[in-house]
Amino acid sequence: MSTETAETVESGAPAHRGRLAGRVAIVTGGSRGIGRAIVERFAAEGARVAFTYNSSADAATAMVRELGEENAMAVKCDVSSAEEIASLVEKVLTAWGKIHILVNNAGITKDTLVMRMSQQDFEDVLRTNLTGAFLATKAVMRPMMGERWGRIINIASVVGLIGNPGQANYVASKAGLIGMTKSIAHEVASRNILVNCIAPGFIQSDMTAKLNEAQQTGLLGMIPLKRQGQGADVAALAAFLASDDASYITGQVIAVDGGMTMV
Ligand code: NDP
Repeated sequence: MSTETAETVESGAPAHRGRLAGRVAIVTGGSRGIGRAIVERFAAEGARVAFTYNSSADAATAMVRELGEENAMAVKCDVSSAEEIASLVEKVLTAWGKIHILVNNAGITKDTLVMRMSQQDFEDVLRTNLTGAFLATKAVMRPMMGERWGRIINIASVVGLIGNPGQANYVASKAGLIGMTKSIAHEVASRNILVNCIAPGFIQSDMTAKLNEAQQTGLLGMIPLKRQGQGADVAALAAFLASDDASYITGQVIAVDGGMTMV
């Protein structure tokens, strides 16, 4: 890749200016954490990005101001609602006419041991993390088919591969996302729509800030690189998978985990 087309984004990672030029992307849960890093990276690479927020309205508004209304759009949307997803897609198509890229990033945790886990907490996590991704994927499929070009990137987790005590609901949602990715990748490959999963490890965000010190130390001990990852580390892979550089990759699960799950 030519250094002339690369610029440095906040993380220090090179963003490839123009690699996503002309593309329209939707990122769910884009106003903070990993989703925010993905929105910023996609915009830095030339995409127009519509991102959703559910409760972080102020952060979403500030981001649109920073990125510019011609490049960024914030839409309030609970991903577990088919109606709200339909309205999101409608808004993006009305404003920008196309959808090329979807990142299913929105996610929640409600951790506890199965013995103590309520059915409600199990189902809530599945509804946001897995049903939400299903609904958004289904809603963008027609516009992507119309373009004969599409990229769907699902943010799973390494725990969807290896399990984790206290997270049966979350792990079920992420393992489900991995399986769903592979099925959909088969279904839409002939339409030039590529579907992949990113499995982040231990990434600094509000979600991991909730872990207690012992849990954080335990996790760091499992990481060969001996440090937490950043949203930007995940965003760099998402930008690659969303670009033409990844045009022969589909149905894959790629870990961004500092070596945590190497076999
Ligand atoms: P955060 O808790 O920092 O952010 C979660 C995001 O999801 C927010 O933008 C939030 O929006 C959004 N969200 C939550 N519920 C809904 C909903 N019902 N509808 C729409 N949006 C919703 O998490 P991270 O940035 O850490 O995580 C992002 C993704 O990465 C998640 O899928 C997570 O499972 C995954 N992941 C994270 C890892 C980590 O170490 N941090 C490791 C592995 C995977 P709002 O603020 O507006 O409510």
